[in-house]
Amino acid sequence: MVKEINKGISHHVLLTSIEPGEFNYDSPDIKVWIENLKDTFATLPKDAVGLAINQIYDDNLHSMPPMFIARTPKSIDGEIFLNPRGLGTGGHVSNYEGCSSFPSNTPIKKSRHKNYTILYLNEKGEEQSFKVGPPWSLIIQHEVDHLEGKVLYGSHNYTGTLCRKSRSKITEPKNQQPPLGFPPPLLKEEPNTP
Ligand SMILES: [Zn+2]
Repeated sequence: MVKEINKGISHHVLLTSIEPGEFNYDSPDIKVWIENLKDTFATLPKDAVGLAINQIYDDNLHSMPPMFIARTPKSIDGEIFLNPRGLGTGGHVSNYEGCSSFPSNTPIKKSRHKNYTILYLNEKGEEQSFKVGPPWSLIIQHEVDHLEGKVLYGSHNYTGTLCRKSRSKITEPKNQQPPLGFPPPLLKEEPNTP
């Protein structure tokens, strides 16, 4: 089912960290939300490169594993990542990023690890891992941030806890940088894989 995207800095689900843990991946509820992620992602413009569960979920996140969908070299239509954990390597690169949950914001320059190794379960519950370089590594780090309740807003990341404490200090960003779009055009050559 296509769900509405959670939007705005005051949306508590966007700012909630989802803890990894033991989940029954055959549970009908989890399967429904995997389909909801896919269905909703399929309605987004082609320059949307990922969608995290807390961008569409509207209930108690403690009953849901951390999961997101993102375009990858393997699947341009998007691949499901459950219970992801990752490690960044290879220094840092900066790029302009936008977010479907903040559609009116100017893309924000964000520094991230150049390469990223991710361990996760696929939607069949099978353990997977791979290492990627830009732009895929940046896409995945953006989605992992969502699962930790971190959103791009203003010139900083705010966690849910931090945001709730300091929401009154947050103002609309005055980001005058040109919107270069995110991600960069999808690479035609093979990305950095091990
Ligand atoms: Zn986002």
